[in-house]
Amino acid sequence: MNDYTRYGTGAPVADTKAPDGPIEDRWDTRRFTAKLVNPANRRKHRVIVVGTGLAGGSAGATLAEQGYHVVQFCYQDSPRRAHSIAAQGGINAAKNYRNDGDSIHRLFYDTVKGGDFRSRESNVRRLAQISVEIIDQCVAQGVPFAREYGGLLDTRSFGGVQVSRTFYARGQTGQQLLLGAYQALSRQIAAGNVEIHPRTEMLDLLVVEGRARGIVARDLVTGEISTHLADAVVLASGGYGNVFYLSTNAMNSNATAIWRAHRRGAYFANPCFTQIHPTCIPRTGDHQSKLTLMSESLRNDGRIWVPKEKGDTRPPADIPEAERDYYLERIYPSFGNLVPRDIASRAAKNVCDEGRGVGPGGQGVYLDFADAITRLGRRAVEEKYGNLFEMYERITAENPYEVPMRIYPAVHYTMGGLWVDYDLQTTVPGLFAIGEANFSDHGANRLGASALMQGLADGYFVLPATLNDYLARHPAADPVDPAHPAVTEAVTATEERLRRLVSVDGDRTADSFHRELGELMWELCGMSRTEQGLRKALDRIPQIREEFWRRIKVPGTEAEFNQSLERANRVVDYLELAELMCLDALHRAESCGGHFREESQTPDGEAARRDDEFGYAAGWEFTGTGRPPVLHREELVFTEVHPTQRSYA
Ligand SMILES: Cc1cc2nc3c(=O)[nH]c(=O)nc-3n(C[C@H](O)[C@H](O)[C@H](O)COP(=O)(O)OP(=O)(O)OC[C@H]3O[C@@H](n4cnc5c(N)ncnc54)[C@H](O)[C@@H]3O)c2cc1C
Repeated sequence: MNDYTRYGTGAPVADTKAPDGPIEDRWDTRRFTAKLVNPANRRKHRVIVVGTGLAGGSAGATLAEQGYHVVQFCYQDSPRRAHSIAAQGGINAAKNYRNDGDSIHRLFYDTVKGGDFRSRESNVRRLAQISVEIIDQCVAQGVPFAREYGGLLDTRSFGGVQVSRTFYARGQTGQQLLLGAYQALSRQIAAGNVEIHPRTEMLDLLVVEGRARGIVARDLVTGEISTHLADAVVLASGGYGNVFYLSTNAMNSNATAIWRAHRRGAYFANPCFTQIHPTCIPRTGDHQSKLTLMSESLRNDGRIWVPKEKGDTRPPADIPEAERDYYLERIYPSFGNLVPRDIASRAAKNVCDEGRGVGPGGQGVYLDFADAITRLGRRAVEEKYGNLFEMYERITAENPYEVPMRIYPAVHYTMGGLWVDYDLQTTVPGLFAIGEANFSDHGANRLGASALMQGLADGYFVLPATLNDYLARHPAADPVDPAHPAVTEAVTATEERLRRLVSVDGDRTADSFHRELGELMWELCGMSRTEQGLRKALDRIPQIREEFWRRIKVPGTEAEFNQSLERANRVVDYLELAELMCLDALHRAESCGGHFREESQTPDGEAARRDDEFGYAAGWEFTGTGRPPVLHREELVFTEVHPTQRSYA
């Protein structure tokens, strides 16, 4: 038996920050009880923010606007190239402009249910409440949301809901929102309140006397290692989907910031909760290093189908209507093509496994706009989705106005992340995590258009109201000695790790190890998981890790621009994180949301939760590489939305 699976169980972890009382009052109560820092004292506090995506960009700008001195990092050459720029479809908010029955409570309800009852109610209720303020904030910044003829902001529908609450800017919502946050950040950079460090990668967290007090970073251009000290550290470093090698994430998105923080004491929550998005362009071969998302918004008008017969290879136009299976509309008549992502992805896998998939290798289903074009006209379809259609055509050389798109599920988002309390503070005092880097709001499955909402809620509204409380309790008068042993130990460890990577001088690239790990994860810890498969993965990962340290080849040195070294260093962390993901998936012997354990399904093949045994968030504590971690459970209490078997039929 693999030793790593003999994990220990520690004391439960509990959120102590969300106040009691009616759920709709909790956020106001917390904001009132949180201590404030006098405006004159704020500039004495240095706050590090790692990340400049929607979460980090909005946080940095807002904290600086409040008067804090912000020191901010990203590995791109400009903050506005953060992965958030790729977000296409939209951002949710309970504005109810359409008067179609939406409300804060409904957004709260949909999100708790959509997450398959594995998120914390207080957080989700707050998210729904803040959603309406986000839109106002972004409109005030000039974000060009789509508008209707009368001038009101337009909305569309996303999966898992029956109202139209997704605000969008064509297929470029992330880009437009990020430009809004970036301009607010730029104002603060120009004002001298934000010190920005592009092309600088955080490689370790400095924990001094039990508190997060800074980071160790590497200048990606010169290779220089530096330390940065502060009164608090905020990680807004995004998700870890690239552990699978192929995903819809930007190629450079990685797990190093959160994994290094985990190694320094921050619990990692629900690492196995990954989201597989149903509408991605299918993989075409081994040469690929990335997959491309086709926005979920396309499911508003596109109809998903496969041939009724197995092995039907006729071109789609030759398959008569009566011989097509619009399987989502058939199985889930209430939500049809707009079922949540986990459900749509599994359904696509099922029809492909039955031999009814289309395209090369039968790994695809059609997303067909013929009806929409007939109903609305080509021009209207072009206005809504033009840039997505163009992108599809450029990649596949097929014109989606004329032939249906082919799509297949792919890794897209990670619901797991650093465990945080209601204040977004991790288990390391002074270390906060926001945006996709934390685990907080989406449970076991995120609804479409809710990541941008959460990132901006965290950055513009939540953190700026809760960080005060921590800083007020830790006045700025106790600077860390740069020669403190905890600082020098972290710097030495970082330098040694990089030196070791360069000195192995083996015969395999970091990419080859990453690809091998990714394929293993996709096969055994991907869309569906079994005990046997997970045990196999847990046996194999330490072997890959051992081989990595024997055979890795990193040309060049650590003291220069060296992208092979950057990649290799990230793969080191993936090789540890992947192991924890598999253990988490193994220990959670139930199905919920994106985590589908084949042993736990209903007679119709839907995810079967086991609330009595697994109605908790799993917070894992690191004890050493390859050593069994310790599980700390956070029991989830539902007083408002009572757990039921999710039904979208
Ligand atoms: C193709 C695609 C389309 C999407 N569309 C939508 C959508 O329509 N609606 C929606 O709600 N969600 C969407 N999502 C999800 C959403 O885009 C992300 O969850 C969200 O943008 C994450 O934002 P973030 O600020 O948390 O992190 P990111 O945008 O990933 O930013 C991370 C930042 O951290 C920095 N960073 C990371 N590690 C380090 C380090 N070690 N040192 C220094 N800096 C570091 C990076 O440089 C970057 O600035 C989409 C995702 C993808 C992949």
